[in-house]
Amino acid sequence: MLDFVRLEADLDEEERLIRDTAREFVDDRVRPDAGDNFEAGTFPTELVSEMGELGFYAPNLEGYGSPNVSETAYGLLMQELEAGDSGVRSMASVQGALVMYPIHAYGSERQKSEWLPTLGSGEAVGCFGLTEPEHGSNPAGMETSARRDGDEYLLNGSKTWITNAPIADLAVVWARDRSSEGDPIRGFLVETDRDGVTTNEITGKLSLRASSTGEIGLNDVAVPAESVLPDVSGMKGPLSCLTQARYGIAWGAVGAARDCFEQARSYALDRDQFGGPIAQFQLQQEKLAEMATQITLGQLLAYRLAELKERGELRPQHVSMAKRNNVRTARETSRVAREILGGNGITTDHSPMRHMANMETVYTYEGTHDIHTLILGEELTGIQAFR
Ligand SMILES: Cc1cc2nc3c(=O)[nH]c(=O)nc-3n(C[C@H](O)[C@H](O)[C@H](O)COP(=O)(O)OP(=O)(O)OC[C@H]3O[C@@H](n4cnc5c(N)ncnc54)[C@H](O)[C@@H]3O)c2cc1C
Repeated sequence: MLDFVRLEADLDEEERLIRDTAREFVDDRVRPDAGDNFEAGTFPTELVSEMGELGFYAPNLEGYGSPNVSETAYGLLMQELEAGDSGVRSMASVQGALVMYPIHAYGSERQKSEWLPTLGSGEAVGCFGLTEPEHGSNPAGMETSARRDGDEYLLNGSKTWITNAPIADLAVVWARDRSSEGDPIRGFLVETDRDGVTTNEITGKLSLRASSTGEIGLNDVAVPAESVLPDVSGMKGPLSCLTQARYGIAWGAVGAARDCFEQARSYALDRDQFGGPIAQFQLQQEKLAEMATQITLGQLLAYRLAELKERGELRPQHVSMAKRNNVRTARETSRVAREILGGNGITTDHSPMRHMANMETVYTYEGTHDIHTLILGEELTGIQAFR
């Protein structure tokens, strides 16, 4: 497994254990069916509780059943899951970073004890509703509304492109509270079996096919007033969750890229043309050298992010740089790996083209590549270019 500058030599025992457990899980439970799931467009729901039992959902949180593992351990977990398939990593990212994290950070004691243990074990599945049909890159423009009505709020609006929505028990819905001064954005915990909630699956995806993606329709949905996340108001709520999830993506993308590289290296050594392995040709060696270099740079960035996060010094702009760079690396690596595999590379028997298709989503969700470019541009110049 590519670890060119021996970053893994510094892992502690717990980090190694988590990496190995995730790697074994991916080998046994994800890889064998990854091609079929991709072709069929199905998310393997049987993995939800298995991942819960293995402690894959937000193990970096503390309390309520979460063991508070290191940020490196959490990153390695995301890396290994995405080496299997971005759909599986996305499921775990959403559950942990986008649903458990906001409840842990901003929820009431009651919300934490009600939801964190069941989400952590995979007994319940969560989704995160921010994007709307007319508001993607600019979620602050959201129209979904909440209006106070006695002891309840009434929610109306629609969310789209929501990972896990069709299989979710709970949705964290971000909405404008029209009953409060200034219409602040608030987070609401909405059980998906409430009257007026629909969670239709989005079909026809050519990317992230082995992931369940849907819309959330909210038609006069009544939720108790205590469903609101009490400790956050404004865009800070959803944006802070996205920073957590993007941190995991920065690591995960390295896993997808590494899997493509390993497939390409092994194929190049096995495949004979012109009387010897194609790995003997300088053109192929240049491709492998470039892939290995870019992956190593992505790994270094991810490990540094873990250190900063551990110290409480990680800023969203750091995460933007890593998400942007590492996903681009994975996208390019998958294409070159497919190239090395020749015609065989276009089938689901090999992972690179599946990763390539998945990367189109990963490049776009959690802040598009362009938006992260502009976040960095603002950081570097002090001028915001995305308005
Ligand atoms: C499979 C999948 C799963 C997803 N899961 C979730 C989820 O669980 N929860 C959730 O809330 N959302 C989710 N999303 C939504 C995702 O976050 C959005 O697709 C993303 O934010 C982009 O929004 P958009 O698709 O509306 O594109 P748009 O915002 O319409 O952007 C279209 C293009 O314009 C560019 N652009 C936009 N604004 C600017 C600008 N100011 N300057 C330069 N270029 C610009 C973008 O970079 C992009 O290339 C998911 C998306 C997909 C595809």
